Order: sequence, then C-alpha cells, then structure tokens
Amino acid sequence: MAQATTTIRHIMSYQPHHGDWFASNQALFNQIASFYFAVIQAHIMVLDHPKKEALTILETLTHTTQRNPNPAMPLSDIAQDIPAYFRRAAIHAALGSAHSFHTHLQKWKQRKEKAIVKGKTFHERPPVPPRTWNKSVTLYQGMWKERSNKSIMIKVWTGVCWSWIKVRITGRELPSDVESGSPSLVRKGHQWWLHTPVEKQFQNPGKIATQVTTNPQTKICAIDLNINENLAVCTVQTVEGTILATKFIKGGKEISGFRKRQLGHIARNRSRTGIMAESQQDNTDLWKKIRQVDEQCAHRISARIVQFAQQHQATILVFEHLGNLKPAKGKYSRRGNSKRAYWMKGRIFTYTKYKAYTMGMLTSRVSPKNTSRECACCHHLIVRYHAGQPAEGYTSGAPLAFCPCCGMKGNADRNASLVIGQRLRERYDPQEKPQALRRVLKNTGVAVSQDAGCEEGPSILIAGHGDTNEHGTAQDALFRMDEHSSDIPHQLRFLF
Ligand SMILES: [Zn+2]
Repeated sequence: MAQATTTIRHIMSYQPHHGDWFASNQALFNQIASFYFAVIQAHIMVLDHPKKEALTILETLTHTTQRNPNPAMPLSDIAQDIPAYFRRAAIHAALGSAHSFHTHLQKWKQRKEKAIVKGKTFHERPPVPPRTWNKSVTLYQGMWKERSNKSIMIKVWTGVCWSWIKVRITGRELPSDVESGSPSLVRKGHQWWLHTPVEKQFQNPGKIATQVTTNPQTKICAIDLNINENLAVCTVQTVEGTILATKFIKGGKEISGFRKRQLGHIARNRSRTGIMAESQQDNTDLWKKIRQVDEQCAHRISARIVQFAQQHQATILVFEHLGNLKPAKGKYSRRGNSKRAYWMKGRIFTYTKYKAYTMGMLTSRVSPKNTSRECACCHHLIVRYHAGQPAEGYTSGAPLAFCPCCGMKGNADRNASLVIGQRLRERYDPQEKPQALRRVLKNTGVAVSQDAGCEEGPSILIAGHGDTNEHGTAQDALFRMDEHSSDIPHQLRFLF
C-alpha cells in the first residue's frame, strides 16, 4: 500500500480572550519541550532508541509516580499537573528537534574532519541548539473531543488552569476515506487555525517502468507547460502511441496581464519614493496580491490537469524538465513578469505531482531538448508560424506547426505535448528510440576508433542482420536518419 499525507486547515472562531489562552497554552508547551530538549542533551543515548522507547526513558527520567518517586530531572520543578498527553506531545516535539540538531551536528563534524584531512582551513560554524521555541501545540487524544464538521472541544492551559473550551471551525470537511492524525493549534498572525494531517491509503501504483513495459493499455498524460495563452496543453496517449484526448488549459494572457499591471504599479511607486531602505519590504499589498494570484492560478491549473488525466484513466503524468530561466529583456514589469511566469511553471509541476499522487498517479519528467521543434510524427524539425503567415522558418512561440517532411499540420503546443509523451515511452522501449539511436551511433564511432571489436553499440540496430556488414548497416541507418552527423561515417569508413 502507498500513502499520501496532506494537511486540512480550518479557521477557528472563538471569543477574543480565548486567543490569549491559546497563546499561554503554546508558551507552556514550548517551555516543556525546551525542558525535554535539555533532558535529552544530558542523556544523549536516548536518541539511539526508537520513538516509543525514548518516550518511556524520558518519562522515567522526569515523571514522578508511586513506582518512580525520585526521577533524576523532575518535570514538576518547572510545571505542575501537566496532562499526560500534553506532556507526550511536548516530548515528541523535543525529540524531533533533538534528532534534527544532532544529525546536523554529525554532518558538520564529518565535513570538519574531511577538511582537516585534506589540510584545508574550516570556517563553517557548528549548528546551535534552538535558542527559542515556537512549536505549535499538537493535540493528542485526551486533549480534544466531540469533533464535528462545525466545532471541536479542546483542552487548553489558560495561564491559570486547564479548561475545556468549544470552538467553531470553518473549512472543508475531512474526507471520509482517510485516516486523520492529531490536530494542532497553529497561529498565523493574530488568527488561530486548526491543522489536521490526514493520511490516505491506496493501492501502490507500481513503478512507471513496470507499468509501461508490462501493460500496453497504460495511459500516459503528457503536459506541455507554457507562458503564453495556453498555460498547459495535455494529451492522453497509450503506451502503443494512440492519441486519445487533448485539452488546452487557457488563461495565460489574463494572469500575465494582471501581473504586469501590478509590477508596473510597483515600479512607478518605487520611482516616486526614490531610494529604499535595505531589507525593507515595499509595496507589501501589491506583492501580496501578485503572490496570491500566482498561487491560486497554479493550484487551479494543477487541479485541472489532474482532473483531465483522471477522466481519461491516465496513470502516469509526464512533464518536461524546466529549462533555465531566460528572463525577457525590457522594462522592470516585463522582466519581472517573465521570471514569475517561469516560477509558476515550477509550481504547477509541484502541485500537480502531489495532487496526482493522492489519486494514485505517478509523475515523471523528460528532457526538454527541442520538444517544441521536433515533429511528433517523424521527429524531423518543424516549422512554426503565425496564422496568415507563410509556413516557413521558425518563429519561437508561434501557435502553428508544420512538418515539411511528413506534412503534419497542427497546434505547436499540442505537438510539443505529444513529443513529451513519446519521450517517456521511448525511455522504456529500445525499438522506438530515435534520440538514443543517434547517441548509440555517435558512441559507436568513438568506440570503434578505440576498439574495432566493440559490438555493444550497434547491436540494437543490427538485430537480425549478419555479422559481416554490421558497421555498414549502422552507416546506412545513419544516413537515412540524420544527415548532420556525416563526420561519424568517415571515422567508420576510415577504419575499414
Ligand atoms: Zn513530420
């Protein structure tokens, strides 16, 4: 079984003074967590034990009971009458921090030793234990009850005593097919939220390689992300190459226009106010607006991609790797806009990946090299042009594509998305591998000049041919496929 975890957030409505209670509750929690961190530091071997045992050891060290009347470092010295599950949540928080700190420390020591062995000077400072504690309170069982979709009862430290209070919660319902974990009280600004982690169990989808090689009915959804109007172009194809569906997800112009206007406002405001103080955020509201719209757009697009893939029973999503950022030249708003459009592509990928995973779909990426220049039918270079223009040359970003070799005509972004899907299939199918084929041939050229007996390279190509003319065969295939690599046959010929 596979599992996916996500957090469901509910905003809480409560009386104004309850906000102060939540704050004192959190302060107490952190005081105890910090105390346990100190206990762990004093008994470092605790970290070698599994979580449950570590918890028992720490409780024996600190918690006074009839059987354990004199613990080494009593918790009662700093706080009285802490509910058991509040204490345990704090212990787990402290254990988490301690593990993290000691892992960092170990790594730092290793780096230092390495540097000393090499005779280099080592200036890096060692990691320090947390100076302040600001953990959110996790509510283990016993600290909350009577949870419904609208409200929850929680037990908090008011600063004076422990008290049960009822708070209203607003947000989406917890899905029914999931297992929910312990909720936590999270402060964001002046508002308190209830975060509930939920874990979904589902059938393990199986590795991409297995799916593609064993089941010819496997459906792949290939996605080409753009910064023009068609933000995402998705095509669903089977492993055998049948194209089943296409979807254009639009809205690029709108978001880009909006962003450009806001960046323009920021630029104008800046030119008016003159020099800014360093490390001081200007135009806070405008930046916030841009961030929120970008974020919302990335979520919307990714959700629609996953929805489309699910409609057509695709089990694998494939994207291309993001190329390097090529910022546009021009005004501040133009440069900033293209940078943000690029970041948004990355965000759409990340969000799609996790959303798809909870639906049992896996995500992969392929090389972005020439995906938009290659013909999906015959792999020759295509012509891109605007409607109403002659079909020749290559206008980057133009919407129409034409292949002079096979006569393919269509939308350039759709063609790119088909190529992306093909690349994934080619990865697992040695028969259908034009790119790798070229590489094999090139390697053969080099390998042959070093070692004439090398057979590894062309063996894929010459399956079914006799041994006598294997290099000749490779050479013919090469001429048919790729005229530009004419330097390679020379090497081959030279040797024979
Ligand atoms: Zn073609």
